[in-house]
Amino acid sequence: MISEYDILVVGAGPAGSSAAWAAAAAGARVLVVERRKAVGVPVRCAEFIPRLLLGELSFRDRGFVVQAVRAMRAVLPDGTVKETRAPGLTIHRDQFDQLLADYARQAGVEILEQVRAVGTEDGFVVLKQAGGSLSRVRAKVIIGADGPHSTVGRWMGLRVRRLIPALQVRVSLSKPMEHTEVYFHPWIYGAYGWVFPKDDQANVGLAIAQGSKWSRPPKATLEWFVGRLRHEGKIKGPTYSSTFGWIPVEPLQTAVKGNMMLVGDAAGHTHPITGAGVPQAVACGKAAGICAAEAAAKNDPGLLKRYDQQWQEDVGEALHLAVERRKILERQWHLLNDILPYCWIGFKEYYERT
Ligand SMILES: Cc1cc2nc3c(=O)[nH]c(=O)nc-3n(C[C@H](O)[C@H](O)[C@H](O)COP(=O)(O)OP(=O)(O)OC[C@H]3O[C@@H](n4cnc5c(N)ncnc54)[C@H](O)[C@@H]3O)c2cc1C
Repeated sequence: MISEYDILVVGAGPAGSSAAWAAAAAGARVLVVERRKAVGVPVRCAEFIPRLLLGELSFRDRGFVVQAVRAMRAVLPDGTVKETRAPGLTIHRDQFDQLLADYARQAGVEILEQVRAVGTEDGFVVLKQAGGSLSRVRAKVIIGADGPHSTVGRWMGLRVRRLIPALQVRVSLSKPMEHTEVYFHPWIYGAYGWVFPKDDQANVGLAIAQGSKWSRPPKATLEWFVGRLRHEGKIKGPTYSSTFGWIPVEPLQTAVKGNMMLVGDAAGHTHPITGAGVPQAVACGKAAGICAAEAAAKNDPGLLKRYDQQWQEDVGEALHLAVERRKILERQWHLLNDILPYCWIGFKEYYERT
């Protein structure tokens, strides 16, 4: 491994690989470090992506796609069901992340697994290998694509302040589904439960905002939710492969400081109402990579500020609207059935100015 790069990317999730891929395609020398043993493993995702994303990526290999989904059904607290057209795909997220990393490699990116970025020292970034040995690299630009508890964000003094816990299990479906389902219920405070089909199985999970009298323990609430689905005959058999993760629900105002920038969950780019973050991770990762390559080529970190403008233009409006809707949702949770049209993306009222 050489120790001088144009760009160091910390984290090989969809944000990091997209940034690295775009930067290398623009001519930069890029190193990605990933602390996991293998990119994408273990999966911490419900594995739904909008169909549009696939078009944007123009992947040749589509082996990671599990099934098509045409609609989303929202089951409201009073039992009514609101169906919205939502063309998408459920995927093997580990294979998706690995494919993105492969495309980055093919563009010339060096990716090191089992290497964690642990600190900065005299202008170098300190890396720790799995065995514990330390090394140092220098880069003109550092991109933090290291998820909701970003280490690079800590170096920058920037922290995503609001995160909510999410828990999920895999179950067997009683019959295949061509749609996703989301469930709103007073016990699932500030979020929803989901059933996202993967052929004869499904990812069943929920997120619950914390810090309110309405907050309930996620694990017990997920058990109740799974019991409800079983009782309704939607799922059968035992649950397996559970996963836990944190979902950012408020973007940072700025994602750039000095020669460092943040992308994906590290910048809080997850949608604060739906919790979906893969499309923004890919889009903003790409924008960050292009911008970083230019800043590195011109030796001008000041150019990184353009990325802040770019992500605000691309996803800022949608994220800020969702932040506002989340405030209503959390404050008026006791009126859940009445406020949902303003607080869930499946209703036209959601997009109206209040
Ligand atoms: C339960 C759950 C379900 C979800 N379902 C969906 C869904 O269906 N659809 C959707 O679009 N989004 C979903 N999301 C959100 C989505 O998973 C994230 O928004 C997305 O993973 C963000 O990508 P990222 O690249 O920013 O971060 P990540 O995918 O978290 O990648 C960050 C990477 O950085 C690595 N890393 C961290 N620190 C270091 C370090 N110091 N050194 C080196 N490497 C480091 C990590 O190991 C990790 O691989 C879900 C989230 C959760 C928790």
